Amino acid sequence: MLRVRNLEVVYDDVMLVLRGVSLDLPSGAVVALLGANGAGKTTLLRALTGLLDVHDGAVTKGSVTLDDQPVHGLRPAAIVRRGISQVMEGRRIFAELSVEDNLRVGGHTNAGAVGDRLDHVYGLFPVLKDRRRKTAGYLSGGEQQMLAMGRALMAKPRYLLLDEPSLGLAPRLVDQVREIIIEINRLGTAVLLVEQNAAMALSIASHGYVLETGKVVLDKPADRLLADDDVREFYLGLG
Ligand code: ATP
Repeated sequence: MLRVRNLEVVYDDVMLVLRGVSLDLPSGAVVALLGANGAGKTTLLRALTGLLDVHDGAVTKGSVTLDDQPVHGLRPAAIVRRGISQVMEGRRIFAELSVEDNLRVGGHTNAGAVGDRLDHVYGLFPVLKDRRRKTAGYLSGGEQQMLAMGRALMAKPRYLLLDEPSLGLAPRLVDQVREIIIEINRLGTAVLLVEQNAAMALSIASHGYVLETGKVVLDKPADRLLADDDVREFYLGLG
């Protein structure tokens, strides 16, 4: 279980962005995290992966624990070794490297097993196998999203954090990404799915949280969120 308790995060020593957030990602689950731009979703992911420092942010209160062991304060590589990987918003692949070299970079914390992991990732994303010698920068947007997810899976994570995987993708590709998330989860990886596309996220997740200006305002099973009036109006456009 990945557990966040009363987490407070500040940028530049003064700007309070997370104000006491609590959230659970149980082992093997899919959990959705919804919220408008600027609500603090990316900041929460940074706190989970040890990337706050790089952005002049810091945890000032609360905790992040993995199986009851503290994670906050660990360095990013140590967190990956504990089993948590992130796919960042905007994909952030290495555009000049080949598809396969991008994947190998993702597997560097997992030395011995790179060949097996490559087979696993190529099994999930046959298109990446077809394009394995291509320069990653020439892939389409959807293929780059798959490469970013494949790269995170090379570390064999038990917990995968996805920051807006459907952003900018055509509906057909959103469906494909959705199917892949379901498959990744079926194979045993828990997923925290940060999405603007609430309908997609809540169609896979068992539980969801809504973040507003750094606070959790809704914390419910996904089917109950889908029935919530505010969620229907503001996140599903059904108001
Ligand atoms: P988006 O969907 O736009 O990424 P978000 O919910 O992920 O939104 P965050 O990116 O976490 O929100 O941003 C939360 C708040 O923190 C915003 O007000 C943002 O301007 C601020 N913020 C983010 N990064 C920094 C930073 N490095 N320094 C200062 N403020 C920041």
